[in-house]
Amino acid sequence: MIIHIDMDAFFASVEVREHPELEGLPVVVGGPSATRGVVAAANYVARRYGIHSAMPMSQATALCPTLKIMSVNMPLYVSVSRQIHEIFNRYTPDIEPLSLDEAFLDVSGSLRLFGSAAEIARRIKQDVRQELKLVASAGVAPNKFVAKIASDIDKPDGFVVVEEAQVQAFLDPLPIKRIWGVGKKTEQKLLNYGISTIEDIRRQTPRWMQDRFGKNGEQIYQLAHGRDRRRVVPDSRAKSISSETTFVEDISDRNTLSGWLINLTEQVAARLREKELTARTVNIKIRFQDFNTVIRSKSLGESTAQTQKIWQAVKALYDQTLPAGAVEVRLLGVGVSGFEEENQQQGDLFSEDIKYDSLDEVSDRINQRFGKLKIHRGWKK
Ligand SMILES: [Mg+2]
Repeated sequence: MIIHIDMDAFFASVEVREHPELEGLPVVVGGPSATRGVVAAANYVARRYGIHSAMPMSQATALCPTLKIMSVNMPLYVSVSRQIHEIFNRYTPDIEPLSLDEAFLDVSGSLRLFGSAAEIARRIKQDVRQELKLVASAGVAPNKFVAKIASDIDKPDGFVVVEEAQVQAFLDPLPIKRIWGVGKKTEQKLLNYGISTIEDIRRQTPRWMQDRFGKNGEQIYQLAHGRDRRRVVPDSRAKSISSETTFVEDISDRNTLSGWLINLTEQVAARLREKELTARTVNIKIRFQDFNTVIRSKSLGESTAQTQKIWQAVKALYDQTLPAGAVEVRLLGVGVSGFEEENQQQGDLFSEDIKYDSLDEVSDRINQRFGKLKIHRGWKK
């Protein structure tokens, strides 16, 4: 069985925990400066005003003038993320993180020790709540696809278990857009055929789906039956670190996209440093509204864990990749690979590196220790 854990409003919840006076108030993390004008996370109070992540900050404050805006404190979130992973590790070594606050756990090997996957998920939620004063949602299911939907469907504080025999009954009534690969266009096309639920897809033939939606149609058909064979790939063996985000609504504003990329870059760089690794290759992933996905990578001159250097490469890739004219972006991702252990590197004592290395180090340390102090660098877009 697979467990998908997803922290509720992670960045915002950590900030509220650090600043108890924010409890019950609408809080977002992100902005406020012009170069950071994107909501990185919104707590559930703020969401009641219609605010969601990736929304321009100006729009968020227009919706809620009393909104509390906290600056992004990535090193703090990275250190909390590490504590969450320590909790996961009590129950299984097979952990595949998707981002700082989300992971798949394969608990097939731990069932004898702990009873059931549902029991493990219950314990993880309890440990997270008691030890970290944060709330996690959990989905438990025979595969990744179903576990991910299960963790999302009852948020916040969700806990949904879907046994093998219940998979079809669980999926059938859900709207088609719950299926990976069903974007706005595919959704509209399916709706035009009178297909609105997962059950409706299941009632078609694979041939019918393939004729109309190509290869993607075949995959949608399989997922509609709850079939997903992808395995959990543990982080310890992973050869890359990445963070990606799928937007609630497709994004066309280039500044918003760029602000979001900075955020993803900071997550990835902070995780690299936390693991005491440096990377040689940077990649970005952009998925457009029509599900066309572009992945581009770039070698760095030398191995690094500096946010600044990784950002330069990300920015260059982004500028090359994003077509001129109107775009609708559904997903953005940043990744690094080609790892070296930090101590294998030879530092050039006379380069600018020292400045940026110590800047990263100081900001990591200060932010971890004193969550209230904010260190910010004004990245150029
Ligand atoms: Mg989350």
